[in-house]
Amino acid sequence: MITTNSHTDLVRPGDPRYDEARSSFNLLVDQRPAAVAFPADANEVAIAVAQAHREELRVAPQATGHNQAPLGDMSDTLLLNVSRLQEVRVDPAARSVRVGAGVKWDRVAPRLSAHGLAGLHGSSPDVGIAGYSLGGGMGWLARKHGLQTNAVTAFELVTADGEQLRVDAEHESELFWALRGGGGNFGVVTAIEFGVVEVDELYAGALFFPIERVAEVLHTWNDARGSFPEEFMSWASLLHFPPIPDVPAFARGRSYAVVMAAHLGTAAEGAALLEPLRALGAERDTFASVPPVVLGDLAMDPLDPVPFESTTAMLDTAPAAAIDALLAAAGPASGRGPTVSLLQLRQMGGALAREAPGAGARATLPGDLCMFALGAVIEPSMGEPVNAALADIDAAVAPYRGREYLNFVERPAQARGFFDEATWARLRAVKAAYDPDDRFRGNHHIPASEGAALRRAA
Ligand SMILES: Cc1cc2nc3c(=O)[nH]c(=O)nc-3n(C[C@H](O)[C@H](O)[C@H](O)COP(=O)(O)OP(=O)(O)OC[C@H]3O[C@@H](n4cnc5c(N)ncnc54)[C@H](O)[C@@H]3O)c2cc1C
Repeated sequence: MITTNSHTDLVRPGDPRYDEARSSFNLLVDQRPAAVAFPADANEVAIAVAQAHREELRVAPQATGHNQAPLGDMSDTLLLNVSRLQEVRVDPAARSVRVGAGVKWDRVAPRLSAHGLAGLHGSSPDVGIAGYSLGGGMGWLARKHGLQTNAVTAFELVTADGEQLRVDAEHESELFWALRGGGGNFGVVTAIEFGVVEVDELYAGALFFPIERVAEVLHTWNDARGSFPEEFMSWASLLHFPPIPDVPAFARGRSYAVVMAAHLGTAAEGAALLEPLRALGAERDTFASVPPVVLGDLAMDPLDPVPFESTTAMLDTAPAAAIDALLAAAGPASGRGPTVSLLQLRQMGGALAREAPGAGARATLPGDLCMFALGAVIEPSMGEPVNAALADIDAAVAPYRGREYLNFVERPAQARGFFDEATWARLRAVKAAYDPDDRFRGNHHIPASEGAALRRAA
């Protein structure tokens, strides 16, 4: 943790603390902001925003640095690191949680699990709740319970004017709508409140197959998933594990085709659904009835910073030809070995395709499959082959591609492509009402609409 003396103690280039202060989860991201602030509470956030105005700097909020790559040049920007905002309040009886904007899922998921509850977190407990929620938030329970962003009941944030607002369905309702999916474009969130779900029974785990069987495994999964109920969320992946101590001993340095799943139901139901995949004869089978906290470890995401490039696509359809094209780009037959460390396909549908009453800007996440791929770039010479492989993956999915999903896009992109026309226009109108001068830089930019700004109303 960086040592600062007070809220006015901005860390600037030349300061011995600067490199640590500007660090990111993705070690390839070399962000060089004009200054970095580490406020300890909402008042200090407001003071930091005011200081940025005085210095004519823009403001980019950050919690964990898991997705800062899209921001690019930050020489005119104050990086506002909210990691010190660490309040956590869990109310199991009300099934609600309130956290400061710096809190990661790993501080909340175990406490909820002890009460038979779960938040709608994603694959990694190391991700920040606020950033994840602002972009959408699609995790293991999403086919049954939808996106985390629509479980949010209130935000507290500091606006461009330095105002501290409480934003919910009754107060600043347009802003409340925009924050649920529009990302960090509207202010600095200082606290977030959300509902969580009861998990009576959970059957979860992974089937590991030798990588040579990846075509058989992915096709079997793709054929079987049409009959999976909403309670069953499954991800099929090609995974090359690095030979490092953080990786479980059995997988270290090895490559697998893996099907991971979480079933909200009994072991017998889950086993019946897995039958076509189990019939292939996995090398390792970890499925068991488990408490919800296990979901944080299921995907085996790295917890320590790593250097990587990534790509993603939402596929509107995923016929067998799409699987074949992906395997030709990144599977064993591509001759690329472990260049693509992870190629992951998540089944979509269910609650993700239905608009929940009172939903925010990310009301649904349409698509049949969500694809995410990454290649570790441990040394610079790996950058070129990794990017070539990711480009081939992009080409493979091009015929099936739908809209992008903000949270998974880790490169500069046109945010317009994430939303339908009406949602985009409404987001821009909210931006014009709350941040007409474009002070705040979300990692994916939403520009203010031109012309008459939306009237700010409760
Ligand atoms: C290993 C890994 C696993 C992941 N798994 C999933 C998954 O399963 N499902 C899923 O949906 N996503 C997943 N993601 C994507 C993740 O949700 C996004 O990267 C998200 O933006 C991370 O938020 P953060 O606060 O941790 O990161 P940061 O880089 O700190 O923030 C990202 C952006 O969020 C906004 N932001 C963050 N904090 C604030 C704030 N206090 N006020 C205003 N804006 C703010 C800013 O625009 C910022 O640029 C994963 C990412 C990684 C690296």
